[in-house]
Amino acid sequence: MVDECLFCRIAAREIPSTEIYSDDEFYAFLDIQPAAPKHILVIPRRHVARICDLTAADAGLAGKLILTANKVAAQEGLQETGFRMVINCGEGAGQLVFHVHLHLLGGRAMGWPPG
Ligand code: AMP
Ligand code: ZN
Repeated sequence: MVDECLFCRIAAREIPSTEIYSDDEFYAFLDIQPAAPKHILVIPRRHVARICDLTAADAGLAGKLILTANKVAAQEGLQETGFRMVINCGEGAGQLVFHVHLHLLGGRAMGWPPG
């Protein structure tokens, strides 16, 4: 837990959020500024700043992040209609919160290429 990290504090329930899913290793909650009708953030409880900071030792975390997002997508009924997973890495990609998070977006048609 990194005290000054917004998402560490959300996972620890020090800062309120709308919970969608929770287990020992991951937490999922609604994005406060939704970019789609369903916009959920899936985060590992362990603090890692950027997806590119993961190493081979983190293969389990990386894999489970995707599997957890799949589980949340199924729970939210997004598998039938389609959904998008997005992970921004670094300021150039628009990363604002430096605790790894996977955006799960659904509930509308998605354009390509993304902005
Ligand atoms: P990124 O730009 O990839 O770092 O995404 C950060 C996301 O966190 C943005 O979509 C924000 O809307 C979202 N966000 C920021 N603060 C909160 C909060 N307190 N609760 C929920 N989502 C948040
Ligand atoms: Zn953190």
